[in-house]
Amino acid sequence: MTEKYIYSFEKGDGQNKVLLGGKGANLCEMTQIGLNVPPGFVITTKACLDYLENHQLPDGLLDEVKTHIVGVETVSGKKFGDRQNPLLVSVRSGSAISMPGMMDTILNLGLNAQTLTGLVEQTGDARFAYDAYRRFIQLFGKVALGIEDEKFDVHFATIKKQAGIKSDVGLSADHLRQISELFLQVVLEETGKPFPEDVYEQLNLSIKAVFHSWMGKRAVDYRREFHITPQMANGTAVNVVTMVFGNMGNDSATGVGFTRNPGTGANEMYGEYLVNAQGEDVVAGIRTPKPVHELAYEMPELYKQLIELRNKLESHYKEVQDYEYTIERGILYCLQTRNGKMNAAAMVRTSVEMVAEGLISKEKALLRINPELLEQLLHPQLDPENKERPVAQGLPASPGAASGKCVFDADTAELMGRAGEPVILLREETKPEDIHGFFAAQGILTSRGGKTSHAAVVARGMGKACIAGAEDIKIDVRSRQASVGDLHIREGDIITIDGSTGHIYIGKIPTIEPAFSEELKTLLGWADEFAELKVHANVDTPERARMAVSYGATGIGLCRTERMFNASDRLPLVIDMILADSKEARQDALAKLFPIQLDDFKQLFEAMSPYPVTVRLLDPPMHEFLPSEHQLEDEIKSLNLYKVMIHGQQVTLDTLGTQIALPGPFNLLNEEVINKAIAKKELMLKKVKELYEVNPMLGHRGVRLGMSYPEIYQMQIRSILEAAALCAKQRIPILPEIMVPQVITAQELIKVKSYVDQIQQEVERQHGIRLEFKFGTMIETVRACTRAGELAEVAEFFSFGTNDLTQATFSFSREDAENKFLPLYNETGLLEDNPFEVLDAKGVGQLMKMTAEAGHKTRPDIKIGICGEQGGHPQSIRFCHHIKLDYVSCSAPRIPIARLAVAHAKLLEDDYRIM
Ligand code: PEP
Ligand code: MG
Repeated sequence: MTEKYIYSFEKGDGQNKVLLGGKGANLCEMTQIGLNVPPGFVITTKACLDYLENHQLPDGLLDEVKTHIVGVETVSGKKFGDRQNPLLVSVRSGSAISMPGMMDTILNLGLNAQTLTGLVEQTGDARFAYDAYRRFIQLFGKVALGIEDEKFDVHFATIKKQAGIKSDVGLSADHLRQISELFLQVVLEETGKPFPEDVYEQLNLSIKAVFHSWMGKRAVDYRREFHITPQMANGTAVNVVTMVFGNMGNDSATGVGFTRNPGTGANEMYGEYLVNAQGEDVVAGIRTPKPVHELAYEMPELYKQLIELRNKLESHYKEVQDYEYTIERGILYCLQTRNGKMNAAAMVRTSVEMVAEGLISKEKALLRINPELLEQLLHPQLDPENKERPVAQGLPASPGAASGKCVFDADTAELMGRAGEPVILLREETKPEDIHGFFAAQGILTSRGGKTSHAAVVARGMGKACIAGAEDIKIDVRSRQASVGDLHIREGDIITIDGSTGHIYIGKIPTIEPAFSEELKTLLGWADEFAELKVHANVDTPERARMAVSYGATGIGLCRTERMFNASDRLPLVIDMILADSKEARQDALAKLFPIQLDDFKQLFEAMSPYPVTVRLLDPPMHEFLPSEHQLEDEIKSLNLYKVMIHGQQVTLDTLGTQIALPGPFNLLNEEVINKAIAKKELMLKKVKELYEVNPMLGHRGVRLGMSYPEIYQMQIRSILEAAALCAKQRIPILPEIMVPQVITAQELIKVKSYVDQIQQEVERQHGIRLEFKFGTMIETVRACTRAGELAEVAEFFSFGTNDLTQATFSFSREDAENKFLPLYNETGLLEDNPFEVLDAKGVGQLMKMTAEAGHKTRPDIKIGICGEQGGHPQSIRFCHHIKLDYVSCSAPRIPIARLAVAHAKLLEDDYRIM
């Protein structure tokens, strides 16, 4: 049996988005639930893939197209290519995953010299017919014949100029006829052939062009940026749909809407429309449309119908819909619907409200939000104390505040963005080919277009600040400047935009972190109800701990004590400890550090009470606390020069024999002091040279320090246990955990445990209490994984340090790989992900699984978690759930993402496959 490549809207399976594309499936579904959809059919994504593979349309496809056109003719009562009553169609792309504006669409197909006359007679509106014709020639010329827009645009502009007309609406039928003729001429000149008159040839070429656009640069870039794999969407479908016209006079209109406000999530009519216009005018932002509420006054009956349409869409799809409609001579048609792309705040609010309305379950409310999206909620907002006044205002199209240097085209945005410069992309209106500029920019500002224009939709999807339709700003791309009244903004000038209010400021305005909304608290509370994995934080100060708790962390999974050593009040003591030439001298320095560490831990335990706090004993190689060899050599050179000058001063005074008052430091320092400084720096330099290792990350660090300098670990253990004792005496409930880094053998753990036991006894005796705490190990080395059963005899918990474990498993240096060869590996598909970002489930993950199993075998109640960077990554979290870890630990700002991701992991466990 030959393959079926085409389905009519009455027959297509509305659930099969992979085959019919999202748009096609929805057109079928909408038709089948009784919405007024213009008749049409879908050519499958399979046909697209076959075409791209064989470079020709599949056998029999054009016959199938003809059969379906006949079907559409029957339903619509019109005829394709007919002079009397011509059927015109749109040819629209649509893949399984929505990629707004990334692929091509052709409108008004079926027009030629013959049908044009028919259309004029049939509508009695020559202006309308020529307008449709010139739009078709340009769109077809661009998409199917590859002619640049500019070739047409110059003629359009010339006619407008000659006629002295500013707005397109002012063009007469005769102007549009002249334009159409010039456009036909452009096609002839550019392709060497006349514009195709045969309507089936038009259709055939258009179908091929839409198939091709699947592999076009912007579509490919978009898929790469949003990680759209062939499993998610493969090929585009083509929808052939009867044209309905919103530009047939003042009883016609075109509009786009969201079933709820995509900026705030509010349950209200939302959208924009234009009377007497085509859909592309709204989407491209060529004319600034009116808010939908005004339709209630302009066309009250149709506004009522639109409310009904919106309600039907939501109650059927049980999801916020982004829909397009056209009113043709008083009849409302629904042209398209898809799940609405919204910012994180709107996703959260709609989730919570749709549960309250009984529309969806809590599970669905959680699952409809991609955890990564929540990152947007931590976007900066303008400081409310800001006194600067905006210089202009546009439409608040995508919330968040952003500052950056102005750039006027996407390529420059990309270039400067890559160089690490924050930029704001300024355009009159944006087109899909600007997408690379969006990726690179901090924010987007357009002088034309509405909140549903391309710029707004794409920016919202990316969570980038965007202002649209700032009509007071005149943008001149040629001279690379913009002006607001007398004020000129040049490329490179810094501006700030506030996508939540639409305000534009000159210069950089301070921003603040946003607070958690009540809705987000509710949603994450539901996530916690489903979650099995706990979410802990990687933090090392009481302030960050409090922040982590406010974000919902239920413990500290990793406190890196070296960060405490690096604080400016301790570093000199740490350096003295490192420079010590005997155990006694080192103990003296450690004794000074002890009360400081004790206070650190006490504050941290208090901030996290009653949750567990896992404190890791010192990990990095010692040289990290000392300046570099280079720096020390420079400093010693400077000190020696200084010494010569001081000596010079003395010689001067001796020679003249008088007291001359010399300025500043010359009076403060003498040779003796400088000699002391030089001696200390030289000692540091000597130590730095002694400590030098070719590969320090695989050298004298972690527990190996604890073996060489037990007194360092003993000081830390004592401060942890003393802090615990002080909290216990104050009846502050705490759960300290002592964790040993870089372990390779149980013997190391046994040794450190012996320090712990000894100090525990002393502290308990001294304070007259019993201490409750756990002792455990990080799992960061391959050997630790292979010896997990033995380690668990000593360790009460394991924490996977997947930064080092990834380094060890891949033999990739974690310092260098990411900016050397890893990008190439990822771009060429040698490795799908960066393993330092996304846990490598197939490799590192297998070691983790084996380790967890061995650990549980020895100690069934062993607690196991992850504290490497991957612990905050949703896909990695699913793997951690799958192998039944107890917790994930990540940086504080990722806590909300992780809380949602652990709930997803539980709810989606049955479908989990290692990818
Ligand atoms: C790790 O290796 O995963 C880890 C958490 O430790 P660090 O990054 O401090 O080496
Ligand atoms: Mg580590």
